[in-house]
Amino acid sequence: MLRRHAIASLLATGAWAGGIDRFFEGAHGAAVLVDRKTRRLLGAHAPASAGGSAAPPGSTLKPLVLNALLERGRLRAGDGFPCAGDLRLEGRRFDCSHPPLPAPVTVRTAIAYSCNCFVAHCASRFRTGELASLMERWGLASRTNWFGEREGAGRVWNAPSELQSLGEDGVLVTPASLAMAYCRLLPRAAPAVLAGMADAVSFGTAQRAQVSGLNVAGKTGSVRTPAGAYLAWFAGFTDGAVVTVMLQARSGGADAAPIAGRILEAHWKGRL
Ligand SMILES: [Zn+2]
Repeated sequence: MLRRHAIASLLATGAWAGGIDRFFEGAHGAAVLVDRKTRRLLGAHAPASAGGSAAPPGSTLKPLVLNALLERGRLRAGDGFPCAGDLRLEGRRFDCSHPPLPAPVTVRTAIAYSCNCFVAHCASRFRTGELASLMERWGLASRTNWFGEREGAGRVWNAPSELQSLGEDGVLVTPASLAMAYCRLLPRAAPAVLAGMADAVSFGTAQRAQVSGLNVAGKTGSVRTPAGAYLAWFAGFTDGAVVTVMLQARSGGADAAPIAGRILEAHWKGRL
């Protein structure tokens, strides 16, 4: 096995990451693939960005946020909320993009369909500053050490909890720090959170991450950076691996999810 400094130097020269590069086909972005159990880095695309570009994570935060509320007893998996579809926060629109749902939204369906209204409603249950300190504990603002000395970090600061819970304010992550946060989430995730991420790929926002014969689960995100650029995210996993994909594109579901699916398929087939 390569020592960490050897991996870092190979990444710096671009000599090692080639396995994942082929799935980007000219698209601009970054990706991290990690062994789910050992948390060892298995591969990366654009390592300088994967370990260094900090950006708003959007809805990829929803599983982490809802799991934290479940753990604290401030939300139950069966609690339902009628989604009206439209949401305004701080003068900006964050309307849900899912079709009208016949039943009240729960944790599971909120993740499957990326319901902004449900998550913002529940996030008001965090105390001031609580969500920021949780995000630091999840490692979103920390270096992972997968990319050596030059790796950058995310950033967390206090912001209105509704916007922060949607990954729109108060938090910037790197593809690496988001992957690490998912590695930490999975062993403690509530059944409804795991089921929601599986549903997202089966019939929700992340269907294009599907791989025939492989159980893929995860969460999409679609955001605009403070500079106005569009970013598409997917954070997901199989039994064996965790992957994050960040892309300069508009839709996590349409643009980032298919790349993540192909990366997870290649890992499953022993090609990464
Ligand atoms: Zn909704």
